[in-house]
Amino acid sequence: MRKIGILGGTFDPIHNGHLAIAESAAERLGLDRVIFIPAGRPWLKAEQAVSDPAHRLEMTRRAVAGHPRFEVSDIEIERPGATYTVDTLRELRARFADSPQPAELYLILGMDSARDLGRWRSPERIFEMCVVVALSRPGSDDASPEDVERRFPAARGRFQIIQGPQIDVSATQIRQSAADGQPIGSQVPPSVGEYIRERGLYRAS
Ligand code: ATP
Repeated sequence: MRKIGILGGTFDPIHNGHLAIAESAAERLGLDRVIFIPAGRPWLKAEQAVSDPAHRLEMTRRAVAGHPRFEVSDIEIERPGATYTVDTLRELRARFADSPQPAELYLILGMDSARDLGRWRSPERIFEMCVVVALSRPGSDDASPEDVERRFPAARGRFQIIQGPQIDVSATQIRQSAADGQPIGSQVPPSVGEYIRERGLYRAS
């Protein structure tokens, strides 16, 4: 059975924290590949301005270029309407069901997202379709698996915590630094830093 990781995010911009959790999950779970999926219209961030999907997709493509196990899908950007992970999982499962090799899906989340699952659409259905893997994140207390299983019975045996590399970086900080004219080179891959500079993303208006 192939093991496929899925890492969704706004990726505005994608940064070293995202790459680090993908690497850590791939190594610890023995994933064959990790699919990075930039969100089309992230409904949890409906109140805030998010960069054009074309920029976020291109930065994600650049960030994973050269990583043999990483790839990017535009499945959420192409889907009209608000983006829900449950719809993405349903679509991916249907695609993999048609392929000759069966696949088990692993949804990779930072701990802040994992603690927020109660606000997501159809969390029970999500646990039925994939194993949810929560990576530690500086500033977010670890979720308790017992608590998650109590809230979502379908999570039994399908929720795991990985103590990841603890990279203290967020896209919010990077956007702020870029707007202030501060360097961001230690927080994003060089190709992403160049793209942000070339396109003038996150400049103060
Ligand atoms: P923002 O600051 O704009 O909210 P973000 O840095 O949290 O963005 P997202 O694109 O929203 O980035 O995150 C995608 C996924 O990656 C989420 O599950 C999030 O929890 C996780 N993630 C992001 N940064 C880290 C990090 N430094 N350590 C662990 N997980 C992270």
